[in-house]
Amino acid sequence: MFCINTASAQWFQNSFQVMGTQAHVEFWLDGEHSDKVSSEQLIALVQQEMQRIDIAMSPYKPKSELSLVNNEAGKEAVKISHELFTLLEESQKIAELSDGAFDITYASVGYQYDYRQKIKPEQDAINSALNAINYRAVALSSKDTTVRFTHPDVKIDLGGIAKGYAVKQSIALLKAEGIKHALVSAGGDTALLGDRRGRPWYVGIKHPRAEKRTAVQLPLTNESISTSGDYERYFIKDGVRYHHIINPKTGDSARKVVSVSIIGKDSTVVDALSTTVFVKGLKGGMAFIDTLPDYEAIIIDNQQTMHMSKGLQQN
Ligand code: ADP
Ligand code: MG
Repeated sequence: MFCINTASAQWFQNSFQVMGTQAHVEFWLDGEHSDKVSSEQLIALVQQEMQRIDIAMSPYKPKSELSLVNNEAGKEAVKISHELFTLLEESQKIAELSDGAFDITYASVGYQYDYRQKIKPEQDAINSALNAINYRAVALSSKDTTVRFTHPDVKIDLGGIAKGYAVKQSIALLKAEGIKHALVSAGGDTALLGDRRGRPWYVGIKHPRAEKRTAVQLPLTNESISTSGDYERYFIKDGVRYHHIINPKTGDSARKVVSVSIIGKDSTVVDALSTTVFVKGLKGGMAFIDTLPDYEAIIIDNQQTMHMSKGLQQN
C-alpha cells in the first residue's frame, strides 16, 4: 500500500489482481476523518469485497455460485443468494431494454471460445448452440429466489456486469466508513466518489490500437465510467479479430465498433451498457443511449473516429 502525507490531507492507494484484471483503490482523508477503521484496513476490506464477489460469480471457479447455477438450473430450479438474484434481475432488465443486445446467456456459445488458446467454435457448433442464447430462457422466481433455465443447454456469464457491481459495492463500503473522496476501478470499470480535492478526477479511455496511449482523458466527479474494448481479450485468425464481446444474435464477436465508454451514476448499469452499446454499434448504440437521459456514451468506430452522445456534445 502507498500513503502520502501532505500538509492538509492523507492519500492512500493500492492495486491488486482480482476478477482476472487489475483493480485499484485510491482515497484521501482530510483531518476530520474519525478513523474508526484504519485506512490500511479499509483498503483490505475493499480487496476482500471484490474477492468475495469473484468467488461467487466467477465462471472459472467450479465451486462458485454461478457455476452451480450453470450445472443445475437446466435441470431444476436452483435456490440462489439474494445478491446473485438481484444481479440476475438487473441483467434481465437490461436484456429487455436493449432488445437482447445484452444477454448473459451469450455464454451458451461464448464458452466455446478460448482467447488464450486462440480457439473459436466451428460455425456448425455455433449454429447448434445458438438456440440456447435467449435471456427469456432464464426464469427467475422472486417468491423463493430461484433460477431455472427453460432450455437445457443455457449457460450464463456475468462478465459484462460483475466488475461494475464490484466497484459499486466498494464505493458503498468506503462511503459507509465515512470516506468522501475515492476512486475504485476494476479493469475498464471505474467508480468515483466525490471529487479529487476540489477538482475532478481524470479517467482515461485507452487508445484501442496503441496499448500505452490514452485516447482521451475525462474530468469526472461523482460518476461511474465503463469502457468495453475489442483489445482486452482477443486473437486474430485469417485476418479476423475474435474478441470477448459477443453478438447474441450470431454467436460471433461484435465488430461494428472498437471501443465504447458509458458514463452515468450507477456503476452496475454503466458496465452492462458499455457491453450493450458495443454490440449495437455506432448508429444503434447512440440511438439507444439517447433514449436514456442518465447515461452518456463515447464510441470509437472502426475508422478510429470518436463520437459522443448528445449530452456530451458542446453546443
Ligand atoms: P471487460 O470485461 O473487458 O471489462 P465488458 O464490460 O465489455 O469488458 O465485458 C465483456 C464481457 O461481457 C465478456 O468477457 C463476457 O463475459 C460478457 N459478454 C460478452 N458479450 C456479452 C453480451 N452480448 N451480453 C452480456 N454479456 C456479454
Ligand atoms: Mg461492460
